Formats: sequence, structure tokens, C-alpha cells
Amino acid sequence: MNLLGLTAADIMDRVTKIESGGKAAGRWKLRALKVEAVYISLFHEVKTLNSVLSTSSHKNVGDPLFTLISQVKSSCKLALKELSRWMTPEKVKTSLTTYPSSAEIVSEPLGVVLVISTWNFPFLLSLDPVIGAISAGNAVVLKPSEIAPATSSLLSRLVEEYLDNSAIRIVEGAVNETTALLEQKWDKILYTGSARVGRIVMAAAAKHLTPVILELGGKCPAVVDSNINLQVAVRRIIAGKWACNNGQACIGVDYIITTKDFASKLIDSLRYELEQFFGQDPMKSQDISRIVSSSHFARLVQLLDEDNVSDKVVFGGQRDENQLKIAPTILLDIPEDSRLMQEEIFGPLMPIQTVEKLEDSFEIINSKPKPLASYLFTNEEQLKKDFVQKISSGGMLINDTILHVVAEGLPFGGVGESGMGSYHGKFSFDAFSHKKSVLYRSFAGDASVRYPPYTPEKQRL
Ligand code: NAD
Repeated sequence: MNLLGLTAADIMDRVTKIESGGKAAGRWKLRALKVEAVYISLFHEVKTLNSVLSTSSHKNVGDPLFTLISQVKSSCKLALKELSRWMTPEKVKTSLTTYPSSAEIVSEPLGVVLVISTWNFPFLLSLDPVIGAISAGNAVVLKPSEIAPATSSLLSRLVEEYLDNSAIRIVEGAVNETTALLEQKWDKILYTGSARVGRIVMAAAAKHLTPVILELGGKCPAVVDSNINLQVAVRRIIAGKWACNNGQACIGVDYIITTKDFASKLIDSLRYELEQFFGQDPMKSQDISRIVSSSHFARLVQLLDEDNVSDKVVFGGQRDENQLKIAPTILLDIPEDSRLMQEEIFGPLMPIQTVEKLEDSFEIINSKPKPLASYLFTNEEQLKKDFVQKISSGGMLINDTILHVVAEGLPFGGVGESGMGSYHGKFSFDAFSHKKSVLYRSFAGDASVRYPPYTPEKQRL
């Protein structure tokens, strides 16, 4: 197949030539040039990026979407600064069994990798994996999401105009194109999106024994204690839900658990701060993102209008189908078996579930598939320790939301239903490298015990 005017074998050939020709310094330079090109394209096109993002999600400059463009730049800068160190073979100690010898771990490119991206943070979630893949010396094909079409076509133009097209290609399209891509043999696939499609990707990859990184989602809980700085906690929860793409974020807060006697104080504070941020009529606020599509809008309205939850709304609930807008909405104590408490919400609806004591929250969280992130707000040291020990999630953040995703040095990825594998920074480089074990021996130390005949004397050794 020749989807790109270039077969995977052509790309692989190109990579092999790049990687096998020249010294390590030359390989570093080639990879660095490609990363630098990503950086330069973002730098030159920042105005276009801003206007595309504004029209596609009704956002203002300064909001997290724009911050995430600078996050891609930071990833480029980090890779450029650290690449030669990441590429340096790691020396390891050897044991008596192989004496005399030396050993090292050599990071080699995997070959041609496929990145399938999603729509909610389309630049970051497309380009961050690409930076990792090219830093590690691979050729990469990127398939952006068709649900963010303006971004997808802009990415396509940027890649064609600024980047080395023999090693970085874009295939635009939806299910048919992705299906065709998945029929090919890749050396690794990084997929970001829903667990439903994650299963399709993994099944397709299995046919070729291709390893996968699955960056999926889940229901990310925030457990809120009464021993907190209430205003700061509430503002950070708002930042991690409604101010973050109006809840359409994989690590956005999905639901809150607090104690029965603290719930009303928490809700009052949320109500007050939401009005400070988005005004008395949030439907008129320019800082509330629209819902990405009419089908996602219909799904959220259905969740909200289910019989067993519709009378539990304590704040918000307004929706406007023409604008695809839903106001920040809080529901109190909805049934655990409601769809809102069973499915990932991925929107501006926030159930608050109350418990007698906060430790009871662990059982609720652990009864669901492992989330991509979990949050705790407390000043209690013992509670922090228990939370870290008893809750399993992709990442965890105490006393804030979202920020762990940009913390340099931390891997980003899920566990269980929220995904497998991780990336970001050095972890991206590692995720797209093969760690080749190399043992160096001389001809000395040729112990006869290895060789037949295995006499009783030898076996006694
Ligand atoms: P999706 O899974 O529907 O789409 C993502 C990609 O898969 C797109 O490129 C799309 O073209 C492709 N795709 C869709 N259907 C396909 C099919 N049948 N066969 C092959 N490819 C197909 O993504 P979505 O549901 O719009 O995204 C939301 C989900 O993504 C949420 O669960 C969210 O938590 C998760 N997410 C995770 C991360 C992360 O970094 N872990 C980031 C953003 C979103």
C-alpha cells in the first residue's frame, strides 16, 4: 500500500540510512534538527494556531489550550537539551558469571511508528508523542482526529511545510483511514482516545505483534476533606473541570467525594467561585468551551436527564443545543448505578457523592476501573499517605488538579482501563526506543566448566 506516496518500507529505509550512517554526534544532530523544526513551526505559526484554536473551541487567549501549545514548545526544548544524554549508552555493572566483561544498554530506534491522536488537546496530544518518536530516531506517521478538522488540516500543512517529510508524515481521516493504517505493520503504535477504540487498536496491533501505548481515560475522582484551604481547593477543582475544556479532558475531575457534613460548604464555595469566574449567566461566558460535537452534546444531555439523576441538580443544568453549550452543573448524591457514576462523563457535569468518613471514598473509587488520575485535597498527612497507598491510578495529585501532567520528570500514562505505557520527556524517548542489552567479552576467561563433557567434577563447581 502507498498511502502517503511513500511506503512504510521506504520510510524505514530512510531511517536505517540516517541511523546507521555517521557517528553518534551525527545521529544526534539529525534528530535534534527534526525536533527543532517542530519548535520553529510552532514559533512561526503561533498566530494561526491561536486563531484555529479560538474558532474550533470558542476559547480565549490565556486558557489552558494555549498553555498547551507552549507545553509542546517546552517538550521540544527539553528534548533538545537532553537528547545527547538520553542517547548515550548506559553502562551497567557485570557479575562474576560473565567475568571479564563490560555491558551497556543501547537505545535504538524501533523503526516506523504510528501515532493516532484525539481532538480535545489536538496539538499537544499529536505533537508530544511525535517529539518523543523522532527524538528516539524513528520515522513517524501521525493520524490527528477528524473531530478537530481545522487542527488536523493545519497540522498537515505544518508538517508538510516545516518538517522532514521523509520521516514525518500526516494521514488525515476518520475510521476508514485509521482502519487502513492499522492494517499495516508498525514498529509501535501510540493511541490516545477512548478505551472502546483502544481495544480495536490493540487487536489490530496484535496481528503483527506490534507493541502499543494506550493513552485512555476514565473517571478521575477528587476526594475533598474539610481540613483544606477551601477557596484555593475550589478554584483548583474548577480549573481541573470547567476551565479545562469544560470538562472535556482525560484528567479532568469526573466526580467529587466529600463528607456529608462538609458537602453544603463545598457546594456554596463552588457556586460562589463559579460565578466569579463565569458570571451569573455562564451560557454567555466566552471562557466556557462548547461541547465538541452534537453527538457528544446529546450524550451529555441524556446523562443529565436520566430519571434517577435529573432531580439531583443543585447548580447549573442550562444547555443550548444551537451553541453546543452546557453550563457548569453540580449534582448531589446520585445513585451509584446511574450512568453518570458508571461512565466517564467527559463534560461539565459534576456529581458530588457524600460519605460518612473520607476513608469510605476508597471503596467507591476502587469499585470502578482504575482512573487516569486521582486527586485529594487535604492537610492531613495520614490521609495523604493512605490515599497514595490504597488508590491505584495512572497519576495522582494532592491538593491540585491537572498540573502533574506538566511536571517535568514524571511519566504520563494510565493503568488498567485507563491505559498502558507512558510518555513525556525522557519517558517518551524510552517509550519509542528499544533498549538493547550489549555485553562485551574478550577472549580471556574461557572457563571449561561451560563445555561438555559435564563431568561430576564440573557439576560440583
Ligand atoms: P476516539 O477514541 O473516538 O477517537 C480517537 C482516535 O481514534 C481518532 O483519531 C479517531 O479517528 C480514531 N477512531 C475512532 N473510531 C475508530 C475506529 N472504529 N477504528 C479505528 N480508529 C478509530 O476518542 P474520543 O472518544 O473522541 O476521545 C475521548 C476519550 O479519549 C476519553 O475517554 C478521554 O479520556 C480519552 N483521552 C485520553 C487522553 C490521554 O492522554 N490519556 C487524552 C485525551 C483524551
